[in-house]
Amino acid sequence: MSEQWLRTHCARFDHGGCGLKVLVRNGKPVKVLPDTEDPFSRGHCCAKGLASLERIDHPRRLTHPLKRKGRRGEGEWVKISWDEALDTLANRFLELKNRWGPESLAFLQGAPKGVEFFMAMRLANLLGCPHVGSSQHVCHMPREQMAMVTCGFFPVADLDSPTRCVVLWGSNPFRTNEEGVLGIHLRDCLKQNPVLIVIDPVENEPARRAHLHLRIRPGSDGLLALGFLHVILEENLHDDDFVQNWTTGFHELKAALAPYTPETVARGTWVEPRKIVEAARLYATSRPALIQWGNAIEHTVNSAQCCRSLVLLMALTGNLEVPGGNVRASAPRLKRLAEFLRLDHFPDRSRKLLNREHHLIPRLLTTPNWAIFQSIAEQGASTHSSAAIGGMYVQGANPMVSGPQAHLVKKGLMNLEFLAVADQVMTPTAALADLVLPVATNFEFNDMGHYGLPHGYVVARPKLVEPRGECRSDMDILNEWGKRMGFRDHFWNRPDDILEEILAPSGITYQEFAQRGVLRGPGKYFTYREKGFSTPSGKVELASSLLRKWGYASVPFYGNGDDFEVDEAFPLLLTSAKPKHFFHSAYRHLTGLRKRHPHPCVSMHPARAQELGLQAGEAVRVVSAAGEMVQRLSLTETIDPRVVVADYGWWFPEGLEKDLFHWDRANINCLTSAERPFDPIMGTNQLRAIPCRVEKAGNAPSG
Ligand code: SF4
Repeated sequence: MSEQWLRTHCARFDHGGCGLKVLVRNGKPVKVLPDTEDPFSRGHCCAKGLASLERIDHPRRLTHPLKRKGRRGEGEWVKISWDEALDTLANRFLELKNRWGPESLAFLQGAPKGVEFFMAMRLANLLGCPHVGSSQHVCHMPREQMAMVTCGFFPVADLDSPTRCVVLWGSNPFRTNEEGVLGIHLRDCLKQNPVLIVIDPVENEPARRAHLHLRIRPGSDGLLALGFLHVILEENLHDDDFVQNWTTGFHELKAALAPYTPETVARGTWVEPRKIVEAARLYATSRPALIQWGNAIEHTVNSAQCCRSLVLLMALTGNLEVPGGNVRASAPRLKRLAEFLRLDHFPDRSRKLLNREHHLIPRLLTTPNWAIFQSIAEQGASTHSSAAIGGMYVQGANPMVSGPQAHLVKKGLMNLEFLAVADQVMTPTAALADLVLPVATNFEFNDMGHYGLPHGYVVARPKLVEPRGECRSDMDILNEWGKRMGFRDHFWNRPDDILEEILAPSGITYQEFAQRGVLRGPGKYFTYREKGFSTPSGKVELASSLLRKWGYASVPFYGNGDDFEVDEAFPLLLTSAKPKHFFHSAYRHLTGLRKRHPHPCVSMHPARAQELGLQAGEAVRVVSAAGEMVQRLSLTETIDPRVVVADYGWWFPEGLEKDLFHWDRANINCLTSAERPFDPIMGTNQLRAIPCRVEKAGNAPSG
């Protein structure tokens, strides 16, 4: 019997960052523990990481490539070889490309999990295909892009240095831990007892510990941020030295902030004026202070201006690039992303993006998924033309559940001539495919996490065991597919060669990387004192010259969301939460996680439930102007009686495939819309603060 403990990192349950120790016996992983020696996660590991073993051996796991036999969505498949699968992929994509051009193809992906995210973009660029759809317009890009135009880098919270004030803005790292290790770093940071300000519509765990909790009206974060800025400038609480020397546009910004008095902001945010003033003063005067901003602020039609306002707060208060503030995370020396993506092969790419038709910011590398589905749904099933998308490859994504306006997504998928989906299990999206490819989990191949992301580090995820059945990694699939598309010179002999090439500038091999576990860039502060800021003026642009050049307002404002007011038909405001035991729409098939959160739940204040004659635990229908869904009612006093908080990401793997696993029964995206208005810069849909009503449903949602 052979038995050894091996070290790797968790992945694909979120961006992944926690160190894991795995006991491998006779080639099988039998036990998973948190790695207490991991310098980054410091012994932290959540229930998802511990569920890694169930994920590997789950009976629902796809283990062979499958080709559709019956009609789309009927659930009839034949097993095929990888040779046939890869040939089918290559032939169908080449056939469409030769007939209609590369714009007839599309790639669609979920959150970046590993290098495969960028492999798909590389293949698209080599093909000259502009359509790489993703959720970046509602996840990270509003923060990243607005930071880039304002100060030239993505400011991350420096939780490792002493700080005097922590602001959690739309972020609960104890629950979603979005960058893998944030939660544990925050817990350690709070041990120094800094002032804690929490901005969240829910009185969550951090809010209960906070000195000040602003229980904000969902979706009004951008307005509140403008209120903070107004108070800080009116009371001269800004860092005058930094503003004088390192910013442009102060007077333009100050004039633009005049309307956002605490009283005006209070009306739109439900936060009392005195609390707005107190929080703004506390943040501005407790230096150093940091803002940990979360994905929730990127879910409204005001997402770009909200994110920009938070960067302005960091800058005006002198908290950019200071220890204990918001800092520039320098990346380790790795292959440059632009080179890896082969952007040089597709010089007119930005002119061909659908983003251009919608007048979105020209710097996005991907297209909002809704723009792709809208384009396909509008073109119809039988009217192909050179402008129409006919073939799609989906990896690590389940847009039937995670994309806005779920019925539009389904219509788009049904209109495709050819759909291939790579995933670990059959999902509602995979069930509509022509070809389904079984992918490996991170224990089954050498991988690297966080490459291409702006957090200043990468983690090694070395292979521990052989892949189950015939599963192959996403990287491996794309590498082989790319070669069959005629790009042999641009792909690699083995997937491991990809990792060696990315690591080459750092001078270490993958094996050495795996031993180290984590590669970090050098920690630096005040880099602007040597080189200035990477903006056109070399300073923090309080009034952005780039936004002005592209035809947007140069200073922030609030007002793209005027249409989202409640009325008699829809008197409540719906917001959403990601259940902490799942990742977006994934992993509801894992018993160990599902038993912790068995049903989709919508939360409401008990007083409002009583008024509506609703009981805890009963099935309720949530209805918006766009559609409806059913979830179980749960009661909580932690939210405002005018608000309901529903679970996001639900479908029922225990249901029948021919019913598409009841993809639309409890799916919050049946209530969202991909129509205008969206954020004019980023294309963000309104996913929070949706007017709705809640009523008795009768049937509990289940498979
Ligand atoms: S917090 Fe994220 S990286 Fe850590 S164990 Fe949980 S899912 Fe994995």
